Amino acid sequence: MTTLQEIQYLQNRIKQRSVAWNDRKLASEKLKVASDSLCSKLPFKWQIIGAENCFNNHNGSSHGKEHIVLEQDWSQGRIKRKIGDALCKTSAQFKGNLSLEPWEGSYVNCKACLEKAFKIINPD
Ligand SMILES: [Zn+2]
Repeated sequence: MTTLQEIQYLQNRIKQRSVAWNDRKLASEKLKVASDSLCSKLPFKWQIIGAENCFNNHNGSSHGKEHIVLEQDWSQGRIKRKIGDALCKTSAQFKGNLSLEPWEGSYVNCKACLEKAFKIINPD
């Protein structure tokens, strides 16, 4: 079972410019496995949807994070989500930046989505 700490460690490693490219690639492959295994346990139907970044990234793309987007209404405790909402934010909060199509071969890399998913699967 992947812990939230492991996921956060991998996410930080991928972001660090000082880490060698190969190591960042490896961390990103590990994160995909951890992310896929975590998200496969979610108790509702969902898909991976990317959000456009309002500001261009340093490499000139507008590729933002990939989120867990619900394919059904769902609520648990204080979290209430409708179909089309991401786990981290409602679709309205994205102000139209959620794209409609899932990105091929992608995995959930939104930190807030993964943290929420982890808490849903491991309630304390
Ligand atoms: Zn998210």
